[in-house]
Amino acid sequence: MREASQLSEVMETSVQAIDGAQAVYEADAACVMHTYARQPLQIARGAGTHVYDESDNAYLDFTSGIAVCALGHCHPRLVSVAQEQLNTLWHTSNLYLTAPQARLAERLTIASGMDRVFFSNSGAEANEAAIKLARRYSKARYGAHKGEVLTFSNSFHGRTIATVTATAQPKYQEGFGPLPGGFRYIEAMTPDAVKAAVTPKTCAVMIEPIQGEGGVYPVPSDFLTWLRTFCDEVGLVLIFDEVQTGVGRTGQWLAWQKIGVKPDIVTMAKALGGGLPIGATMAVQDVAASFIPGTHGSTFGGNPVAARVACEVIDIVLEPGFLEGVSTRGQQLGSGLCVLAAQTSAVVDVRGIGLMWGVELSGPVAGRVVDKCRERGLLVLTAGASTVRLLPPLIVTASEIESALSILAIAIDEAV
Ligand SMILES: *Cc1c(COP(=O)(O)O)cnc(C)c1O
Repeated sequence: MREASQLSEVMETSVQAIDGAQAVYEADAACVMHTYARQPLQIARGAGTHVYDESDNAYLDFTSGIAVCALGHCHPRLVSVAQEQLNTLWHTSNLYLTAPQARLAERLTIASGMDRVFFSNSGAEANEAAIKLARRYSKARYGAHKGEVLTFSNSFHGRTIATVTATAQPKYQEGFGPLPGGFRYIEAMTPDAVKAAVTPKTCAVMIEPIQGEGGVYPVPSDFLTWLRTFCDEVGLVLIFDEVQTGVGRTGQWLAWQKIGVKPDIVTMAKALGGGLPIGATMAVQDVAASFIPGTHGSTFGGNPVAARVACEVIDIVLEPGFLEGVSTRGQQLGSGLCVLAAQTSAVVDVRGIGLMWGVELSGPVAGRVVDKCRERGLLVLTAGASTVRLLPPLIVTASEIESALSILAIAIDEAV
């Protein structure tokens, strides 16, 4: 442990030390908690679809910072409104109202077909608010015994103690007990499995329209249609976690708008702030009315800078032709991946929609493919041990998709 007397020494040297790339690796290794298996890459700057390391080598970014930088890095229009807002007002808390937050609420609810929004700062927080809202609504409407939330095997809903419990994957929960009660898991995406999980205490079902972290599994739309009808019949709140699928990722503003099944609550985060942290929990009027003054809150939620940038993100994504472009590029990427799958037995499945794709390999070598791609200037992600995940910025070009596909083909060849 560092002594207090050493601190001034560290402060003095830090400015010049941080200039050295090696010093950055050392400071990270020594001082940041080891929750992340970092890749050996230090990103110094980003522009459009590319990021650059400390020696200014370019990488085509098919991660978008995990579906966050949907408009690429440092989009000129986002930079411009952020700078303007930084010179105007940074933070007020939610004791007062601000124009950026109110304007964002208006745009966001209209675009999302919802009535009201609660703002937070991340996906996990957006889901926490959804869980609280569904419980409060159901208790008032059906009785105090209502409180159980159902989620699906292989889901991902966040890392806070409640959302990691909602996340039905043991690997994320290990070592964190006792986990809060009030969550049950549905073993399969079938009507029978849902009915088997429901109890008299059940108040809500939470589902990702396309499972992201779990391996990029689009949920069959006939199952979602059935689930909507079932929730209405039994009196359950249907929550869509669109933290990863929102903001145009699927070729629609929200995935549900493509599938045609509308939830009672929908959560968003990742791409909403274009790279700044913001989360949103939206609901239809009836449900939203359960949050009254004092029931929920967030100090930073709907911060003016993040809100101002999010307004601009919405304006850009909803410009005529933008979402059609995402669908076109998505089809190009999807069919390119299918061609790749046909050429090598190392690829056993290709799944996705819009610009969200998973390439399942014949063994647990996704991490090796990620490394091989990076060595050739392409950043991609994993989703589990055997699936490589592609989340390019929505502004990706046809030729960038072609180069990514050829690098991926070589990387898979080298890794298996
Ligand atoms: C990333 C993600 C979350 C958690 O978001 P954080 O901002 O990391 O808290 C929740 N749900 C889904 C579907 C996600 O992809």
